[in-house]
Amino acid sequence: MASQPTLRVEGLKRHFPVTMWRRLKRVAAVVKAVDGVSFDVGEGETLALVGESGCGKTTTAKLILALDTPTSGTIRLGDTDVQNLHGEAYRHYREQVQAVFQDPWSSLNPRMRVKEIVSEPLVVNRRRSRRDIRARVAEVLEAVGLNPAHADRFPHEFSGGQRQRIALASALSSDPKLIILDEPVSSLDVSIRAQTMNLFRDLQGQFNVSYLLIVHDLAVARYMSDEVAVMYLGKIVEHARTEDLFSEPLHPYTKALFAAALPGHPDVEREEIVLEGEVPSPIDPPSGCPFHPRCPMKIGEICETTVPALRTHQGRHAVSCHLYDDEAAAATASAEA
Ligand code: SF4
Repeated sequence: MASQPTLRVEGLKRHFPVTMWRRLKRVAAVVKAVDGVSFDVGEGETLALVGESGCGKTTTAKLILALDTPTSGTIRLGDTDVQNLHGEAYRHYREQVQAVFQDPWSSLNPRMRVKEIVSEPLVVNRRRSRRDIRARVAEVLEAVGLNPAHADRFPHEFSGGQRQRIALASALSSDPKLIILDEPVSSLDVSIRAQTMNLFRDLQGQFNVSYLLIVHDLAVARYMSDEVAVMYLGKIVEHARTEDLFSEPLHPYTKALFAAALPGHPDVEREEIVLEGEVPSPIDPPSGCPFHPRCPMKIGEICETTVPALRTHQGRHAVSCHLYDDEAAAATASAEA
């Protein structure tokens, strides 16, 4: 029997009511930032959420961090339902789910000493003694390759790579089950990206922690993740084990993202892949398949009228595209005959 995942997200939606001007009239509309997303993150595994900016991956991360409230759907960490957590239960949840953000220059408080930053997730738990906290700070600083004797220093006394190690030490200090890594190496110099990614991977094994990796760089996703979910306009359009997705991408959007050759090594800097046409506004998304206005493989009217379901194809590889929907493809073929 498969073990229970660390994190289970089911049918997650975050819709924002907005008002906009249309033909000189103010009208109410809804931005569907996250629109029915489901995935698991296995124990000690990494799931990468990839996609262009505005696809909903950051909103998904905020919902999991309990910094925002879903419109509907569920988020479960082990047996804990994240909805309606208060007081001690909320504090415990935030100990169990930590985050490392993109920019180590702005994410660390410049007025706090390293020992205060690293112990921050611990002090919310009032059961720990000062001696315990000091010992834990020294332990995690050593684990990330920093000298515990430097715990009295301030963040500006460290390089960018060392600051990201401080952020990771802080995230690990409370022994979390899940860490959200939000573009964790994109602001680092290319010369230290590989060693930082290796550190994240090594410590994942050592601390048995799961990662949800929010990333736009496919090379980083490939290097760090066990599974990849590709998001477009608030929905997951493809989800597979990393090796399967990279050896045989199925969705035309994923194929377009892969169209520019991937570098042989994640340290090699390259231009971000830019698709033709803009990502449509989530206020007024296209009918049918949300990718149809940009899709080079559109198969007919069905793409403009019917939302493709996310269906499993070839075992565990899920894709939402009518190209893989046998019934729909057959219906289209007979209509065109
Ligand atoms: Fe392209 Fe149609 Fe597939 Fe959408 S459903 S990705 S428009 S082929």
